Amino acid sequence: MSFLIPCPNCGKRSVYEFRFGSEYKKRPSPNQPQEAWTEYSYMKRNEAGLQKEWWFHRAGCRQWFLAVRDTVTNEVHETLFPRDESPRSNTPSPQPSPSRDAPA
Ligand SMILES: [Zn+2]
Repeated sequence: MSFLIPCPNCGKRSVYEFRFGSEYKKRPSPNQPQEAWTEYSYMKRNEAGLQKEWWFHRAGCRQWFLAVRDTVTNEVHETLFPRDESPRSNTPSPQPSPSRDAPA
């Protein structure tokens, strides 16, 4: 199934230019018990509906970003860089990116 993802740096592009990372989850602090790290590393919510996810624009700007995607319809509602306070959706104007962070 093909759909468009609005890269926060490049604008709307085909999903085939991207690589799915995983569901977004808050990383536990280093002193958390092993159960917290096991949950973080191996457990997935697999939402049917809106889900925040990591995506990588492998055939474009080669940056990781977050996307809020409806997993039922594949409609992407919002994309943003992890440290970006202003999400961009449906705005193809290129912006300098503040981050090259990859998911853990
Ligand atoms: Zn891009």
